[in-house]
Amino acid sequence: MPSDPPTALSAGTPAAGPDPLEARHVLEFPGGYTRSTGPVIGRFLTELRDRRIVGVRTAGARVLVPPLEYDPDTGEAVTGEYVEVGPAGTVQAWAWVRTPRAGHPLDRPFAWATIRLDGADTSLVHAVDAGAAKAMRPGLRVRPRWRERPSGNITDIECFVPEVTMINAPVRAEYRVRPGAALTRFFTKIKDGVILGGRCATCDQVYVPYRTSCPSCGVLIQEEREVSDTGTVTTFAINNLPDPRAPEVPFVSAYILLDGADIPMIALVGGVPAHEVRQGMRVRAVWVPPEERTMSMANIRWFAPTGEPDVDLSVGVPGGGV
Ligand SMILES: [Zn+2]
Repeated sequence: MPSDPPTALSAGTPAAGPDPLEARHVLEFPGGYTRSTGPVIGRFLTELRDRRIVGVRTAGARVLVPPLEYDPDTGEAVTGEYVEVGPAGTVQAWAWVRTPRAGHPLDRPFAWATIRLDGADTSLVHAVDAGAAKAMRPGLRVRPRWRERPSGNITDIECFVPEVTMINAPVRAEYRVRPGAALTRFFTKIKDGVILGGRCATCDQVYVPYRTSCPSCGVLIQEEREVSDTGTVTTFAINNLPDPRAPEVPFVSAYILLDGADIPMIALVGGVPAHEVRQGMRVRAVWVPPEERTMSMANIRWFAPTGEPDVDLSVGVPGGGV
């Protein structure tokens, strides 16, 4: 017998009369619900028990992981060709679980993620034990952490964990440097408080430190040229990491074009707050006392401002080639 048509309720109007009836039900199979897997999922789980992950190839040559009986795009039956994939893969998207519930694979915060295993064309959903949400990102490389005793269940993969991309290991290298004839000559003069350059007779460029061939012309440099220990800051960087050669952090390293040279050399700038250093600033070498000098660039502590007016670098530097 046909029933009466349902009566429309106006939205937002509380029903008058007694509270609606309500009962709580729990559907649970405490001993588990046994069901057959079918050949495709069965193959997948059997391979998992042997710590292998397989997908199945579709007629269109795509690899479905986890495998399905039918191509979800076309509805066609899959080919029955199984392909081993992964075990590593790439996170596509994820949701962070701050408070795991009973039954979740991990008892600490983790991510549910879609993971595209290497060689697969579809993504698998699994847990990623990344430690913190900020460690998760699209493209994160992950690998399975296998359960100690696999049994043929998706939980044979306990979870995925990020691949190792960083390590911290002590580093120490001990080596000797032989500077060669040109640098030996340069350091001999540095010990005397003189900065030595070399002038190319072909292009007229003066190179500092002194060198015996012109990198531009390829010819031998035969003329030594002493250059000034004053110069102009052409460019600089403010460094916020400590360095044994620098007095304090932040410190400034700069390219300084010495008067009479055509190629700037790199050196520290000191005697001025880092934020006051600027391009075009005039500086002079601060030498250690003569009795402390060795054949080393440590003879120049740093370059300090001379107080001269800045050089307008857009119109060139006196004595310089820029
Ligand atoms: Zn040259």
